[in-house]
Amino acid sequence: MDNLKQLDQTYIASTYNRFPVELVSGKGSLVRDNEGKTYIDMGSGIGVTSFGIADEEWAAAVTAQLGQLQHSSNLYYTSPCVELAQLLCQRTGMKKVFFCNSGAEANECAIKAARKYAAEHKGPEYSTIITLENSFHGRTLTTLAATGQDAFHRLFTPLTPGFVHTPANDLAALKTAALANRTAGILIECVQGEGGVNRLDESFVKGVAEFCREQDIVFLVDEVQTGNGRTGYLYSYMHYGVEPDVVSTAKGIGGGLPLGACILGEKVQDVFHPGDNGSTFGGNPVCCAGAVSILSRVDDALLADVRKKSEYIFSALEGAPGIQSVSGLGLMIGILPDAPAADIVRECMARGVLCLTAKNKVRLLPALNIPMDLVKQAVSVIADVCREAAHV
Ligand SMILES: *Cc1c(COP(=O)(O)O)cnc(C)c1O
Repeated sequence: MDNLKQLDQTYIASTYNRFPVELVSGKGSLVRDNEGKTYIDMGSGIGVTSFGIADEEWAAAVTAQLGQLQHSSNLYYTSPCVELAQLLCQRTGMKKVFFCNSGAEANECAIKAARKYAAEHKGPEYSTIITLENSFHGRTLTTLAATGQDAFHRLFTPLTPGFVHTPANDLAALKTAALANRTAGILIECVQGEGGVNRLDESFVKGVAEFCREQDIVFLVDEVQTGNGRTGYLYSYMHYGVEPDVVSTAKGIGGGLPLGACILGEKVQDVFHPGDNGSTFGGNPVCCAGAVSILSRVDDALLADVRKKSEYIFSALEGAPGIQSVSGLGLMIGILPDAPAADIVRECMARGVLCLTAKNKVRLLPALNIPMDLVKQAVSVIADVCREAAHV
């Protein structure tokens, strides 16, 4: 471990603060380090391993495709990406899919779709994208511009112009900003993930959808973290009963392999023509075969189960000593402890539970199929640690 840490720090760009743990293997929601210590995985690689580590059905789908054709480029037809796109359209009622490799890239595509639609329908000066304060949309220079957190912007300017941020849940401010600028699109996360697991108000989300329809503004929902069953709905917008024009997703859709998707609704389905966007690895058959295995199992029964586990976690932790509040939706949960969140995460790790943080909260994004007994064990450790750290 010491040697690995030293080599990592020598050769890998220091963009990450890693915990002093080397993970080597796992099964389902249990993951093991190089010393043989087992942890309950309440983070699933930041909401990526939707059905846990080394899920057998997913691994079989991936392995079969790997032995057949691992890549073809987008010059030729292949079946896994078509199957996945069809599944996404059937399950959402949306019309077409662009595949890429990450959340940031899916959002780039979403922004391009909104700008091209507005340019063609209203004029190229209609280019502004409104996003929310405290949002997170990615690390490329354009998705950083979309991200409403100044801390990420410093020293990387100039960012892509044309982004305006307004406060979450303030519909009047959003409308004023959208009308004061020539606006192409409005981009929201229904539950802000990195921003602190904050669920947007229903009236706000509905209001944004309605305003976009009235003004012929493209309504974009970033489902990179909230998507693919995470919130107890296939996509979190479904909880709000709205219909976005564009949905971007990534993280959990691939079950652990890099895959992003930008799903286009009726309004923008024909916006792209050959040459307008592309990605060498986009729609990779191995990633897509894995994603088909994931998405086809995110069915009503699984979603009901996600909501049931969520209710258990909320009821066990809300009002518990050392915990100020619990936020989120489904298995995307933020816990505001009395003690610093980073201290809680470190102590939970020492006691065999891996958690994440989001701002000042402890964030939980377990695998969607995590067994209930592991949920109970993890919640009990988290509750103990929060209580003890608060000295109550
Ligand atoms: C993680 C995340 C992104 C960025 O995804 P990458 O795959 O890291 O590029 C974008 N939006 C949201 C809401 C995210 O949670």
